[in-house]
Amino acid sequence: MTTTFPEQRTAVITGTGSERGIGRHVARRLAREGWALAVLDLKADAVLAFADELRTETGQPVLGIAADVADPASVEAAFARMDAELPPVTALVNLAGIASPHTLFDLTKEIWTGVMDVSATGTLLMMQAAARRMIDGGHGGRIVNTSSITAYDGGGTFSKTGYAGAKAAVLGLTRGAARELGPHGITCNAVVPGPIDTDIMGGPLSDGRKASLSGGIPVQRVGQPSEVAALVSFLVGEEAGFINGGSYFIDGGKHMV
Ligand code: NAD
Repeated sequence: MTTTFPEQRTAVITGTGSERGIGRHVARRLAREGWALAVLDLKADAVLAFADELRTETGQPVLGIAADVADPASVEAAFARMDAELPPVTALVNLAGIASPHTLFDLTKEIWTGVMDVSATGTLLMMQAAARRMIDGGHGGRIVNTSSITAYDGGGTFSKTGYAGAKAAVLGLTRGAARELGPHGITCNAVVPGPIDTDIMGGPLSDGRKASLSGGIPVQRVGQPSEVAALVSFLVGEEAGFINGGSYFIDGGKHMV
């Protein structure tokens, strides 16, 4: 179905609390491209300060919301604020995620549930709330979820089995949603990053770590969060309406499929 986006429209982005994370690069880029934003994260102070900064920097409406994407009540409360304070929700970018370096035998049920809660349950709850509004508005929309090459190759470097399982779940959720939401003019795709230079492992990657992570990558380097933002920007655009249910590797050619 072909739909037309509202002139004033909101992109919802999760995982924007980390200063060097992918979420902030996506938010900056989409704000500059004219989107109003709702930026969400568990880290309340960080996300509220970031929203203030971005509002000043771009002149766009930017609402910072402290939210836990894995908690249905928190997600509903966040969307209730967007309904009251922002233009119609037209794009959702799910970036909240946590790494898990645990091996198969170290993966307790508690750790596994925590990883799944953020990446899989969080993606599901956010998609349900956003897609309901896109359907009710009749204007279609774009959803971009975040998987990882770990879902394909099993990881082994900084994240292992639990993370691989959670990021594989994201792919299944993406494809199911793409099929169900397509008739409403809503597309749903996944980005599949290789190693990106952020603090997801608890701090900046050392030069040695970057060099070892670059092994097997034809472009011989790790990726930058701004490069992921460029891909997301394309996928949430109105002109990307025939791209649906896809998984887009952004890994310097490590996986060629
Ligand atoms: P990051 O750690 O910089 O940012 C992740 C953000 O998610 C943090 O601000 C964190 O507070 C937030 N978050 C965690 N749990 C949350 C919850 N329950 N509710 C709301 N927010 C929550 O990480 P990043 O590197 O920017 O990663 C962004 C996404 O990209 C993640 O899903 C990650 O798994 C994925 N990814 C990253 C890489 C990489 O190499 N950095 C590679 C592949 C995929």
